[in-house]
Amino acid sequence: MAAPSLPAIHASHSGCWLRDLAGTRPVGKGEAIMAAADTPLLLLNAPLIASRLGYPDLSGLDLLELFAFVHPARFMVPTPKGLAQALGLAEPASDDGVPALLQAAAEALLAVCEDPVWPEREGAWSALQSLVRLRWPWAGLLAPKIAQPQRAERWLFSRLPEWEEAPERPQPAQIVLGDDAITARLAELTGSAAELRPAQQAYARAAGAMFAPRGGQRQPHVVLAQAGTGTGKTFGYLAPASLWAERSGGTVWVSTYTKALQRQLRRESRAAFPPERAVQAGRVGPPVVVRKGRENYLCLLNLEDALQGGFTGRPAIMAQLVARWAAYSQDGDMIGGDLPGWLGTLFRKRGITALTDQRGECVYAGCPHFRKCFIERAARASAGAELVIANHALVMINAARAREQSQRPTRIVFDEGHHVFEAADSTFAAALTGAETVELRRWVIGPEGNQRGRRRGLAARLADVASYDDEGARAIADAREAASALPGDGWLARVVEGAPFGPIEDLLAETRELVLARDESGGQEAGYGLETEAAQLGGSFIEVAGRAQEALEALRQPLMRLALRLEALIEDGPDWLDGPARARIEGARGAIGWRTDLIAGWIALLARLGGPGDPVFVDWLALERSEGREWDIGLHRRYLDPMKPFAEAVLAGAHGVMMTSATLTDGAETQSGEWGSAIQRSGAPYLDVRPQVFAAASPFDYARNAEVLIVTDVPKGDIPALANAYGRLIEASGGGALGLFTAIRRLRAVYGRIADRLARGGLPLFAQHVDPIDTGTLVDIFRDDPRASLLGTDALRDGVDVPGHSLRLVVMEQVPWPKPSILHRARRLAHAEKFGGGGQAHDDRIIRARLAQAFGRLIRTGTDRGHFVVLSSAFPSRLLTAFPPGTPVRRVTLDAALQSVAGRVSDEASAAAQPSQTDESRL
Ligand code: SF4
Repeated sequence: MAAPSLPAIHASHSGCWLRDLAGTRPVGKGEAIMAAADTPLLLLNAPLIASRLGYPDLSGLDLLELFAFVHPARFMVPTPKGLAQALGLAEPASDDGVPALLQAAAEALLAVCEDPVWPEREGAWSALQSLVRLRWPWAGLLAPKIAQPQRAERWLFSRLPEWEEAPERPQPAQIVLGDDAITARLAELTGSAAELRPAQQAYARAAGAMFAPRGGQRQPHVVLAQAGTGTGKTFGYLAPASLWAERSGGTVWVSTYTKALQRQLRRESRAAFPPERAVQAGRVGPPVVVRKGRENYLCLLNLEDALQGGFTGRPAIMAQLVARWAAYSQDGDMIGGDLPGWLGTLFRKRGITALTDQRGECVYAGCPHFRKCFIERAARASAGAELVIANHALVMINAARAREQSQRPTRIVFDEGHHVFEAADSTFAAALTGAETVELRRWVIGPEGNQRGRRRGLAARLADVASYDDEGARAIADAREAASALPGDGWLARVVEGAPFGPIEDLLAETRELVLARDESGGQEAGYGLETEAAQLGGSFIEVAGRAQEALEALRQPLMRLALRLEALIEDGPDWLDGPARARIEGARGAIGWRTDLIAGWIALLARLGGPGDPVFVDWLALERSEGREWDIGLHRRYLDPMKPFAEAVLAGAHGVMMTSATLTDGAETQSGEWGSAIQRSGAPYLDVRPQVFAAASPFDYARNAEVLIVTDVPKGDIPALANAYGRLIEASGGGALGLFTAIRRLRAVYGRIADRLARGGLPLFAQHVDPIDTGTLVDIFRDDPRASLLGTDALRDGVDVPGHSLRLVVMEQVPWPKPSILHRARRLAHAEKFGGGGQAHDDRIIRARLAQAFGRLIRTGTDRGHFVVLSSAFPSRLLTAFPPGTPVRRVTLDAALQSVAGRVSDEASAAAQPSQTDESRL
């Protein structure tokens, strides 16, 4: 059947439309479902249409799957408008035009396959043969369009390039950057506008201080630079960074917290680090490399396993589409790279994650794809790069335990520096939980029972060591035996049913009992996690903890012995230990090292139970639950101040570090010129280092372009009133609203009440935790449609970078108070003891930071305009310093707020008619 004659369906919150030979007509949900059951329908984003129809089993000919096959690694916003734009078709004016668009799009995509210059042809015929066998719905339509190639196609694994082994680089030269040189480099990067931005020049010179030669051991240069939105931070630090990298031959790391900023940096760093200059300087490989945690990249061995029968049914189809993408991907990054974020959600299962190297089971040089591995390529490229773009967690991990010195960052710019504390908090945490111990058991033992897949245990990974070295073989066998005392599959059910197996499951069962016994919520909040302090623990708990400690020690000992044997082996260098085997054993040595550290952390946590508390740590017991289901149980440990281990792991070995952000200091402090808490939160005082500080206010005219409205008449806890307020505000602004919630429950309740009504008015509403779409794609959809609005929680408070007309209203449901957890209470108390004030100053600082981040979403360029609305009368005036100086703030009724928002709509409409801001305008 030709694509135009295939029926097509579209469903939104405002209705359903079916197009068949008789034309397009509105249909009810029931008829739409019946039609889909009768014959495969063309549709766009099956899970989303299924959720709109309330029929989870919906399937059909999904245009997104076809697009992923025909144009792998190409960006597309998964909406009718995005599809039309990607294919150069006319955008439908309204929902009823979408089914015709789907037919036209199918025809266009199928026609591409017959085009002799189809750029992604190679590999398509071979992949299609597998997809035919898997009964992929599109396979029958594609088969006649894709001719068998005359010569055998290069298969994915032969098509990918091999990385080159590069010689070790000399250490960077010690140089001093002059202010004039920094200013000149900045002018090169920004063009003629540079002289108009003295704040940016001053910022760049301040950033240059981090590159000066270090004066003493463990004495890095630390620069804290706060610069309001619009100062031009990115080029501000890239100017001295590129100059230093060029002249010294070294590598600068720029670390971000959000993927949005990482993407922006990838684009903007091209000008500062041109490849020609790197080649002239004798560098090998690209000058700019993006590095992420290994769990972000495709593992080719996992993919091969999935393609060869490891995956069946729909996940097997997904594996074929991922293989198509891998052959054309820039860097194999599956999370936030060029793999469409929507691809994974089309297949509903956690298939994408299963294709990454989640569990550190990489066999390094023992892997047949080692020389083509995306992860290895990124790691090698970063050693030779001028600039490495990474995230805070990876920088901390690399600083703490990189295998080679060349992988350790020594000059680091932490952009989004206000998040370094949080990142350090989770990086240096210890969690002895069921989920973590199961992972460890699998890593040591490998697949057990009916488990499938290529994952192999320690014994299989080190079989050659065991056959060569008796002591190594004994250590592996002992570790294997000790690991069998760890929780295995089904542990949670056993623990919940009161039939735990082994000392760690015993501990988890006791932990669960205790947390439930001490629950003060009266069972009201069954959907949420529970926690209790690790204090006043009874004798039986301590006894069980002691046995768990012994079991962990019994595992740690043989792992340590094995690590020593591997070291000795590398030193001895027996005949069979060629280059690849050595790399594999070194990899195994590193992996064992960080697991023994992990186990040592757990043992330390158990050892202190029942004894006097250690003031450096905060320990607690937790039962994790969501939506009425328990999913993990365990003991947790955090540093009271995570900047203490950060200072040791990152700062002590670094030569220069800058932390920069628009909100580095607390709003209140900035006005009094104090940097106390920002300096404390940099970790520098732990090394007796005095940071250099710099501040520049935003050049934006907040007084004219923004207004904060605190709505006083929406009663707290009244969901209908809250939903009404959201709905009317979005209507008044004609969409373009970002709604921020502190609880998923309220987000869903509000969404459920207003989505249909808004859709009928032509205002699409999307929501995290509701729509089956990943967060990055939701933001892409929101950015692409000025009439769309988006509701979300924490991740959106920071990760949304939508300049221009698409975002013109931010609505917060309430003041973002910190969650009163045990950890929060301990830190609040510590703050109060140190600075007085009963802990309120601690909470206020957190809230002001959150408000400032949320407000920061609104005004991204000099011409952005908009409102920031808080639906809470209980908004203390002392928090108002969170907003940039000069921003008008009014306490008003909802009606007055609606008037204000609506009052700007005509202006916004004319602004929307103008071209959107270029990225450069935000620098
Ligand atoms: S080297 Fe490791 S991560 Fe890379 S493809 Fe092989 S097993 Fe996967």
